[in-house]
Amino acid sequence: MSNIKFFSNEEIPLEMHKVRIVQKLSLKPIERRLEAINEAGNNTFLLKNKDIFLDMLTDSGVNAMSDRQQAAMLIADDSYAGSETFTRLENKIKEIFNMEFFLPAHQGRACENIISKVLVKEGQIVPMNYHFTTTKSHITVNGGTVEEIFTDEALKINSTNPFKGNIDTDKLKSLIAKHGTEKIAFVRLEAGTNLIGGQPFSLKNLIEVSRICKDNNIILILDASLLSDNLYFIKSREEEFKNLSIREITLKIASLCDVIYFSARKLGCVRGGGICTNNSALFERMKEILPLYEGFLTYGGMSVREMEALTVGLDETMDEDMINQGPIFIEYMVNELSKKGIPVVTPAGGLGCHIDAMRFLSHIPQTQYPAGALAAALYIVSGVRGMERGTLSEQRNPDGSEVLSNMELLRLALPRRVFTLSQVKYAIDRIQWLFENRELVEGLTFVDEPKILRFFFGKLKPVSPWQERLTEKFRKDFWDSL
Ligand SMILES: *Cc1c(COP(=O)(O)O)cnc(C)c1O
Repeated sequence: MSNIKFFSNEEIPLEMHKVRIVQKLSLKPIERRLEAINEAGNNTFLLKNKDIFLDMLTDSGVNAMSDRQQAAMLIADDSYAGSETFTRLENKIKEIFNMEFFLPAHQGRACENIISKVLVKEGQIVPMNYHFTTTKSHITVNGGTVEEIFTDEALKINSTNPFKGNIDTDKLKSLIAKHGTEKIAFVRLEAGTNLIGGQPFSLKNLIEVSRICKDNNIILILDASLLSDNLYFIKSREEEFKNLSIREITLKIASLCDVIYFSARKLGCVRGGGICTNNSALFERMKEILPLYEGFLTYGGMSVREMEALTVGLDETMDEDMINQGPIFIEYMVNELSKKGIPVVTPAGGLGCHIDAMRFLSHIPQTQYPAGALAAALYIVSGVRGMERGTLSEQRNPDGSEVLSNMELLRLALPRRVFTLSQVKYAIDRIQWLFENRELVEGLTFVDEPKILRFFFGKLKPVSPWQERLTEKFRKDFWDSL
């Protein structure tokens, strides 16, 4: 797709699929959106779908399925044990990852539960490029500690480094030297590092990490939930490996890891998950507890329909024209916003476009949640729902003081193959209008603050009537437009 040029020289991403099933959307007038965000306590998690125009909250479980996936769901073989559907999925895993053993699970965090229960002992550490929320919880619940060993580039909002998700191998070596191998439960590498903006690791980095782990007899585990984006970035950004096919890159990656697990809500565009390995001893230990938490070994909490669709989805992930749709749309959005001077995380990653609220709303103190305020403001002016990833997503210190986040981001996820270019352009247009009018946006303050996971259920209010003023200005500029 990347080598299709337009005579006009316009640089736009081109879809390599056609849309055959559609879902109607509606855009409610701004007055209703103002009401809706207040009913939701200024928390985009609490908005109702009927009030949302473009849902950019997450890429989890909301990616578009293909016609082949939908068709496969009809031939699913339902049985508690020994279903043909499971055998087809198991065989596809063998083909794609060259891994002998496969355990199905109902989603990504369920895999993390099984892995952590079996491998993490009290007092052990788990080095990784960056944590993911559910991963960290499962490791800590089992008495372990997460040690993040990212490179200096990882947390820079603006960088030209194409692989901000890499592990700093010097830090890995010093951790091993300091603690000894006994204290390390396993090393975890996350593909398309979620919380730092969907940033990939390079194959070169994985080769080095894998060598260090092998030399020290440490298990290396890949979180492959966002592998499809990472595969595309290796193929398109890593000169050394550009002649390898997506299948070859995948096999190479798998050959360097002891365990691969994934959330199929992202990888394979369905809803489910799984753990793959060639290590039979480890497989036996995980297998023992799987029926306790997930279900029998041939379904693990997934419906047979989802498993059939996953088998096809994994196969389609090997198609570059399929996996590049997300990244090239995100790159378009990031480039267009950058050109307009709007602060975004660069380089573009997978998963979504991330707006830097710290700079967008530099007049709002972090204690008044700039990223949360930006999420509410963008919803009001566009009907686009994003997700706050900043101080609001942190938890207070035991003494009640705020933990100020390193970054204040508004994440606009682009579920794969869901939105059209004109919808992305609409979002860009409204973000630009909001940027021009950013001084009208002020902060938020809690009215109902849960002690844990406050970003899911907490309710807030604006510190002043700024939302009414924003709505008034919108009306003046857009007249009778929604
Ligand atoms: C989403 C995600 C998970 C958790 O998967 P669920 O299916 O939501 O439980 C784990 N790791 C990463 C990197 C993810 O993006």
